Amino acid sequence: YGFVAFAMLFSIQSNAQKKTVNTIDQKVETLLKKMSLEEKIGQLNQYNGFYDVTGPAPKEGQAAQKYDHLKKGLVGAMLNVRGVKDVRALQKIAVEQTRLGIPLLFGFDVVHGYKTISPIPLAEAASWDLEAIQKSAAVAADEASSVGLNWTFAPMVDVSRDARWGRVMEGAGEDPYLGSLIAAARVKGFQGENFNGNNTILACAKHFAGYAFAEAGRDYNTVDVSENTLQNVIFPPFKASVDAGVRTFMNSFNELNGIPATGNAWLQRQILKKDWNFKGFVVSDWGSMNEMIAHHYAKDSMHAAELSINAGSDMDMESYAYVSNLATLVKEGKVKETTIDDAARRILRTKFELGLFDNPYKYCDEAREKATIGKPEIQEAVLDMAKKSIVLLKNDNELLPLKKAGQKIAVIGALANDKTSPLGSWRIGAEDNTAISVIEGLNQYKGNEITYAKGADVIVGRTLFGFETKVNATDKSGFAEAVAAAKKADVVLMVLGEHGLQTGEGRSRTELGLPGLQQELLEEIYKVNPNVVLLLTNGRPLAIPWAAENIPAILDTWQLGTQSGNAIAQVLYGDYNPSGKLPMTFPRNVGQVPIYYNHKNTGRPVLPEPDSVFWSHYIDQSNTPLYPFGYGLSYSKFAYSDLKVSASTFAKSGKTEVSITVKNTGKIRGKEIVQMYISDLIASVTRPVKELKGFEMIELNPGENKKVTFTINEKTIEFFSANNKWEAEAGDFKVFIGTNSADTLEGNFQYSN
Ligand code: BGC
Repeated sequence: YGFVAFAMLFSIQSNAQKKTVNTIDQKVETLLKKMSLEEKIGQLNQYNGFYDVTGPAPKEGQAAQKYDHLKKGLVGAMLNVRGVKDVRALQKIAVEQTRLGIPLLFGFDVVHGYKTISPIPLAEAASWDLEAIQKSAAVAADEASSVGLNWTFAPMVDVSRDARWGRVMEGAGEDPYLGSLIAAARVKGFQGENFNGNNTILACAKHFAGYAFAEAGRDYNTVDVSENTLQNVIFPPFKASVDAGVRTFMNSFNELNGIPATGNAWLQRQILKKDWNFKGFVVSDWGSMNEMIAHHYAKDSMHAAELSINAGSDMDMESYAYVSNLATLVKEGKVKETTIDDAARRILRTKFELGLFDNPYKYCDEAREKATIGKPEIQEAVLDMAKKSIVLLKNDNELLPLKKAGQKIAVIGALANDKTSPLGSWRIGAEDNTAISVIEGLNQYKGNEITYAKGADVIVGRTLFGFETKVNATDKSGFAEAVAAAKKADVVLMVLGEHGLQTGEGRSRTELGLPGLQQELLEEIYKVNPNVVLLLTNGRPLAIPWAAENIPAILDTWQLGTQSGNAIAQVLYGDYNPSGKLPMTFPRNVGQVPIYYNHKNTGRPVLPEPDSVFWSHYIDQSNTPLYPFGYGLSYSKFAYSDLKVSASTFAKSGKTEVSITVKNTGKIRGKEIVQMYISDLIASVTRPVKELKGFEMIELNPGENKKVTFTINEKTIEFFSANNKWEAEAGDFKVFIGTNSADTLEGNFQYSN
């Protein structure tokens, strides 16, 4: 009876599930049947915010045209509209003035927070803490949804190997495995379980695909990569986003192997929609349809629209290509109406899933807006995330943590007193000067005497939108004051690195050192007082070989968001023991870039350095990085021993286990991220020297030890093979476990299928 009852219950449940699925699909079909071709095309059109709801309706120019389109039902989504009042006003037009009253989607770049800013995504990745990362996305969604938004253009899941590229700050670094887990955590954080509340938003995996592989790290540049690299390195975080239920994708500005991503049918139709069965919709990147004209791929906007829609780009962000041309293209038979239907269907389904047809003002609640922005729970989450993102790179003579009393501390560097730079790039919802600065954070601790001196400005350089910090690149007039402060101090904290506007879109660099006069300032200060702690502020890996060699303590503090100064002060004073690990390799100089841990072997030896000119090397620099992927210290110390592989051979659907013992040999309790890598020794295509396949965060008291065990099965060793499919090939493998990608113990196993 039990079984029958269970089976009945199951069938009732699955019918109920089917019913809801059908209802949404049926609603979409019913609506589609009522729509004219123009109205369907309207759903495929996204406009940037243009309408000042406090002023009169726009009467001329582009704004008037957009306004007119909105009233005619020729707009499906908007972006960059801020605040409940404005969202409500525009939604009202869509719902009350258009023939069918279809609600709008409101998108925004909620990349690391809306108004309360969490660390830049690259910094968050350094935490390797998936729960905290998911929480950070969830509180961002809470805040963003309270201002009327229902869609973020995040996460950026581009695997990035080139620190020159300014957008590495927006991703999770260089590793496809870590990147996939973080992508899924972010998608789940933004979207929640199934959008049934009003405090989650649609996520968008971007930029599909290859954007981070721009030649020479120059933004928007040509991308030429093999299918093997696409499949094994670039695609996994996108696939993980689909598996985590992401509802939207954004394509990309770049061309990929000769075909712009926006017009790339292989990417969008074959891989994404067919192979991965993605049911959501693809939005173009800003104006990327028309950029295909500049790529010399489309001859005009009409041609760009034809190429884009046929290649599977469902929504046009700000190219005006669809709204102006698709109807003509359908009439001329160059685009099938069923292709338009498919795109419109995907977008409408998303709107139904969000619940916008039941309540288009679901996200428009002024009282919630007021109560949510910057509320304590959000501040706590971003502070927690900021502390977890900090990476201790060096700590000779245990200079850190600082003593809490009786010390004279000199704080030097323009960035120490900067309340904007810690917000980093892509924080368009947040105002300038809203971060806690390092000085403010330190001032919460009263026991020491703090002196501040700027020393020198940070030079920004040519950046997007003409932003430029106008400062004199040769002005050393602040050096003397800084040197004097350093002379009198017990400890000098130097806050140096990149300005918040030195990374992000359009902000590629050809040098990766400390910008402007900061390197010179650092050396001058060190001459008069070697007790220097460098607080590195950065949106990308920096090449700081001199500091790594000479400065006794270095803390990578990235750009940590609104709570930056508080997080830094707590770590400096030991109220939080740092545990972050680099998600991207730090080079010794820019000539080593791209440099990443999971590179391939060559036909020549690489290490140990042989006594021959014919090995793969530079004559003027080592092959090794400054700091490897996965690197990061703690105020505790950890010793690894006793690596054991349970079964030296396993077969299809079997497994082996590899374990290690980690001991805290330091003086205080601390967290360690134990990392497991494998290497496939001989395969049908050459494989990386090492690939991350597992990690575990453990916390140990002084003297305590713990055995950590990882399971290895067929899934762990799969890759995109010479047979053009994901599979595990029989053969010999190495397994490595350690504290970072370069410092590991190793064992062996065999797989037979
Ligand atoms: C960026 C996207 C972003 C879009 C909308 C583009 O310039 O490449 O990542 O989502 O603008 O702001």
